[in-house]
Amino acid sequence: MRIDVVTIFPQMFQAVENCGMSRVAIEKGHLELGFWDPRDYAEDSYRRIDDRPYGGGPGMVMQAPQVTRALRAAKSQASGKVVYLSPQGRTLTQERVREFAGGPNLVLLAGRYEGIDQRVLDAEVDEEISIGDYVVAGGELPAMVLIEAMVRCLPGVLGNHESIDAESFSNGLLDWPHYTRPEEFEDRSVPSELLGGDHDKIRRWRLKQALGQTWLRRPDLLKDKHLSDEEASLLREFKIQTLEQGQESSQ
Ligand code: SAM
Repeated sequence: MRIDVVTIFPQMFQAVENCGMSRVAIEKGHLELGFWDPRDYAEDSYRRIDDRPYGGGPGMVMQAPQVTRALRAAKSQASGKVVYLSPQGRTLTQERVREFAGGPNLVLLAGRYEGIDQRVLDAEVDEEISIGDYVVAGGELPAMVLIEAMVRCLPGVLGNHESIDAESFSNGLLDWPHYTRPEEFEDRSVPSELLGGDHDKIRRWRLKQALGQTWLRRPDLLKDKHLSDEEASLLREFKIQTLEQGQESSQ
């Protein structure tokens, strides 16, 4: 997959290019990144790309001609959608990440200052995506969030594909708790269900924890989820155990 990013700070993406799973994805040829700096499309020697907003007020706005030229250059390389990272966009979900990762290519547009001249967004952008209800200084970190989330979903990138399917949000539940050696740590033990190699016991414990953690932390996720008989009974057990533990600790 190819992702082109329109940004005045391409150097920030060294973190994605040089570290972790995205670096491996690039090395293995699963991911190709391209960068387009609007400053390279400015017409003055100061490489200016921003100006004061019409109507007054604080801050600066990225100018339409420079951003449009950079975007069109990027689009000439990648045939996919243009996505503007914006706090006003639809909040990113794991489902949307998977859809993006299914291709085709993407062009990501990162804003700075007060944002980008609206005429660029009206004419060139297919979709706006937010990483949450808060405002960061630029679209670069949101673009990297999207890239890193997508990379994990690209076929062949994760060694063990099961690990995506079992992760939070993939099946409408949060992930179960994880443990590794040592078996005892500061008087706290690994749950006995995970020891001894009984695969069905382990599966049921994990499913029960995933259901229970989702009920405790994100009950909204359970509202529209259809539970199988087994899932409903495991969740009931989890709720009873949690209530009993609460009563014990309050005595
Ligand atoms: N004036 C804008 C507003 O209030 O909606 C915020 C501009 S913000 C300081 C500069 C840039 O950061 C935006 O153009 C956008 O690209 C990016 N940005 C900020 N918060 C974001 C978020 N939550 N999700 C995605 N992009 C964001």
